[in-house]
Amino acid sequence: MNIRAKTISVIKRLEEVYPPIKTALNFETPFQLLIATILSAQTTDVQVNRVTPELFRKFPDSASMSKANIREIERIIRPTGFFRVKAERLKQVASIIDQKYEGRVPQSMDELLKLPGVGRKTANIVLSVAFGKIEGIAVDTHVKRVSGRIGLTRNKDPEKIEKDLMTITPRNLWPHISILLILHGRNVCYARKPLCERCVISDCCDYYARKSPAGKR
Ligand code: SF4
Repeated sequence: MNIRAKTISVIKRLEEVYPPIKTALNFETPFQLLIATILSAQTTDVQVNRVTPELFRKFPDSASMSKANIREIERIIRPTGFFRVKAERLKQVASIIDQKYEGRVPQSMDELLKLPGVGRKTANIVLSVAFGKIEGIAVDTHVKRVSGRIGLTRNKDPEKIEKDLMTITPRNLWPHISILLILHGRNVCYARKPLCERCVISDCCDYYARKSPAGKR
């Protein structure tokens, strides 16, 4: 099986296991999605969803968040970790969006990447979920690990992994592959002890072929 056929097979089979979801983060506007995604660094979506109701009730948009007392933001987002750095970034992002973009989240990868604390992963999520724009594939720690094990990439750097995945995945499936690999990483392909015996894609996984006598082919 060539690498493109393998990728499509992986996506199709994982789609049968994991029901389609866009993001587990709660939000009502593109600005709130951007803020929630920034907050999700180094923590879980569940933890972010615990703090955003109060955060968005008090500071629902870039105008209010840019004028917020930073100590108040820190207090609210503290459970998400790295709260001082994150609070500063939220204020900076809100100020830029308020002043430079008149309160609207920019809709291009280049502009999003210029915002403090916004990398390709965050930008890809905002572009695809909030605006339906597909410009890349979000690569987080799960996507990195699972795609490497399956053999979809040999790179370790997220940007290079993203390029590899973009090359071998049909464009309309770019948002799917990211979410599916994340879900598979969270539920089966654990970092320490992957549950290969329960994995629906073990027959096309390079890691399984190397580690398991049953998987050799
Ligand atoms: S076979 Fe194992 S290593 Fe490969 S994707 Fe499945 S769980 Fe991960």
